[in-house]
This record gives sequence, C-alpha cells and structure tokens, in this order.
Amino acid sequence: MTFRELGLSEKILQAVEASGYTEPTPIQAKAIPVALAGRDVLGIAQTGTGKTAAFTLPMLSRLEQGRARARMPRTLILEPTRELAAQVEESFARYGKNHKLNVALLIGGISFGDQEAKIMRGADVLIATPGRLLDFSERGKLLLTGIEILVIDEADRMLDMGFIPDIERICKLVPFTRQTLFFSATMPQEIVRLTEAFLHNPVRIEVAPAASSPAEITQALVASQPGADKRETLRKQIRAAANFKNAIIFCNRKRDIAILHKSLQRHGFRAGALHGDMDQRTRMASLESFKNGDVDLIVCSDVAARGLDIPDVSHVFNFDVPTHSEDYVHRIGRTGRAGKPGTAITIVTHLDRKHIADIEKMVGHPIGWLEGARIEDLGMPEHKEEFRPRMSAGRRPPERHGRPESRKPRDAGENRRPEPRKPNGEKAEHRASDLHRAQSVANDRPVVGMGEHTPGFMLRPVKLKPKIAEEAE
Ligand code: AMP
Repeated sequence: MTFRELGLSEKILQAVEASGYTEPTPIQAKAIPVALAGRDVLGIAQTGTGKTAAFTLPMLSRLEQGRARARMPRTLILEPTRELAAQVEESFARYGKNHKLNVALLIGGISFGDQEAKIMRGADVLIATPGRLLDFSERGKLLLTGIEILVIDEADRMLDMGFIPDIERICKLVPFTRQTLFFSATMPQEIVRLTEAFLHNPVRIEVAPAASSPAEITQALVASQPGADKRETLRKQIRAAANFKNAIIFCNRKRDIAILHKSLQRHGFRAGALHGDMDQRTRMASLESFKNGDVDLIVCSDVAARGLDIPDVSHVFNFDVPTHSEDYVHRIGRTGRAGKPGTAITIVTHLDRKHIADIEKMVGHPIGWLEGARIEDLGMPEHKEEFRPRMSAGRRPPERHGRPESRKPRDAGENRRPEPRKPNGEKAEHRASDLHRAQSVANDRPVVGMGEHTPGFMLRPVKLKPKIAEEAE
C-alpha cells in the first residue's frame, strides 16, 4: 500500500514524502480513505502508531477548499495536554507546508491576547485543550458553529483527567453535521457511551492492542531501598547504561520530580524537568532542551509526558513504579520508537511488589532483575520514614500490625487532606470518625488503622512547606 493509493492530493503527497515516510502505517491505511469519504472514524490506537497523520492528512485534504472566517474556525482538534496540542501543531506545519493555513493553538498557560488575534484572523485549524477552549467560547470570542471536522484525540486520557463533561459540552456546541474523528487507546465504558452519543455511524478501526509492550524495548527491574538510596541506585544505573544517549525519568509525584531534578543537577548530570505545575513557557523550554540535546535527562510526570513523540530516546527510567499498570506501558513506550532499540529500567522497593505483579500480568511476562538482586535479597528497609504509619498512605508495616500486605493500593480519594472545620462550628473530624465507624460496622470488618480513636490533632489540616533544596542531596 502506498500513500498515493489512499486518495490524497499531490500537495499532501509531496509533504508526506518530504517527511521521509514511504508507506502508511496500519491506522493510516485504514482511517485515511474512510475519513476522506466523509465518514466518522472511531480509531482505537495509541500514540506511536502514526495516528496523528491519520487524522491530519485527510483534514488537510478537506481544507484545500473553502476559507476560514473571523472567530469561526473550520476544524477543531481536542487534546488532553498542552504538549500534545503543541505536537499536533508541529504535524500541521510539517504535513501542511504546501498549504496556506492558519493554525491556532488554544492552550492554558499562554496569554489570551496572542491566541485571540489568531482566532480573529480566521483559523483553518484550531488545536485546543478543553478548558481553554470553553473559556474562549464562553467569553464570546469564538464560535464553533462553523466546525466541519472535529477530532477528539486521546479520549481515554481525557477521561483520566476529568475532561469528559467538557468534551460533552463542546460536542453540543459544534454543528450536528460535522465529521468526527475519535481516537482512544482503550475503550472503557464511559468512552463507549461518549462515542454512542456523539459519533454518527462510525467506522471502527483498531490497531495493535494497547496492553502489550513493544518487543524492541529491553525491560529490567532493579531492587533498591527507598529514600536517598533510590537516587543513588538511579545514578548508578544511568552511569552504567549501555548505548546511552538520553533518558526520560518518571516519578509518581510532582514534589519528587523537583527533588530528583535538583539532586541530579548537584551530581553533575545535565537534567531538566517537566510537570503540570510548571508554567507553559518553562514546560516548552524544558522539552525543547531535551529534544535538542542541551540536557540528556528529563524528569517527568505521567501527565506531562503522555503521548510525547520524542524520537530517539535511548532509555526510560521508572524512578517510581507506576501505580496503574497501563502507565507502565505508556512510559516505556517513550523509548524503542520508530524501530530503534530502547531500554526501560524500573527501580523497585519493598513498597512496590504488588504494582510490579500487576505490571507483569499486564505485559504478559515476568520482567528480569538486573544484577541478580531481587527485592527479597535486600533485607528489610533501612529508611524508617518510608515505613512510618501515615494517615493518608493507607499502608502499614505488616510486621507491626499483622495486616496482610495485599491491601488496596492508595487511590486519589485516600490521598485527600482531612476536612477542615465546618462553618457552623461542627468539627469535621467527628463526621470523619462517624463515617469510619459506620463503614466498619457496615462492612463487618475490623477497624482500620486507629479507627475512631484517631486523636483530633492528627485530623487537623496542616500546611506543608517542602524545603526542596534541603531535601535534595
Ligand atoms: P503518532 O502515533 O502520530 O504520535 O506518530 C508516531 C511517530 O511515527 C511520529 O514520529 C511520526 O512522525 C511517525 N510516523 C507517522 N507516520 C509514519 C509513517 N507512515 N512512516 C513512518 N513513520 C511515521
């Protein structure tokens, strides 16, 4: 199959050729003719499959006729993160280099003024994150009634990030007759419901299942004690890495990203960082320095790094084991791209055994240990602070409390701070302990942790000022 056989125009074919692509990927071969015929597409594909071109190329074809009007974009692409939106903008610049198109990017963290000016000029393509788009629309600065094609990309990630109500609102603001191209790596129930509500008789196209890890990636686990030892383990692994060019390092928490980033810099590594609390300019600059080689390490959160297309990443390090096994697959998929080999090394502590078991189940095979040291060989942890019983952690040292280790992993709800006092003076902790008791009785299970005997002072909200600089070695 060639791109020419897909029915694309000469201008588009030239741009594709200039990109160095000789053959369409499976999602492109299946989706492009369907999209060119004007049908809705339900694409089940993850990043790395070439799905961006699968929707960009047929959009360019449609945009060859007609013109955009002020405030009324002709096509709209919704992306869950700013980085993905910026990446799609780059694709339009590449594939649309023979077209005179106005492409506008509406993402948070960038001034309204510049974005408004672009929309006023008339955008052929509007690429947006849902929040900023609704902001513009509600201020009357944008009309979505001229949208001919709507693309919803990474829908399952939108779901994870709580954007589905926004997506539903946006779908109601665009004309009923538009064409919709919808992409998701997985199809949980909420996404199925969304497609049933907003797609018209779509052609379903599914490529490579999401839950398998690419064969080109060498995966390994390395055992470590928690705390500062983990940073030492990471440094050792980076120094010892074979065929090292650069690496993405994943942490589970933003605070740990800052600590690790500083620590790596102190130890002489050229490292950057990327997470959702950084302002947009800094995020873009950080990513750019990694892409152009000014730094060879970038410490990231899942949200910031999801779907990023950085070709030629030699290593991925999981400084923390991801608590959701799908995130493991997404993380390691940042390396081993475009047929190049990659290595993914995960640092594992005693706290991570359950998550590793889940990950191995998902990838369908055990992952080998480096240097023969399994977590069982390390003995008990030395870092007491990691094992102090914490109200929010939902985990306790098994030997002290005799509780089974296989407790439910912490979820977002368990992470919440205790409620502050109610305005009527009623102490929130009374309600918390009542609830706790009621749940224990209802479940007929032993009371968890301190149960209703939790001292009041432990339930009071506290303000933490992380002294990041001091904590980093
Ligand atoms: P995506 O899944 O859209 O993020 O694309 C993943 C990577 O594949 C990007 O680096 C694209 O430039 C690249 N790519 C897309 N289509 C093709 C193709 N037909 N042949 C080779 N590489 C491609």
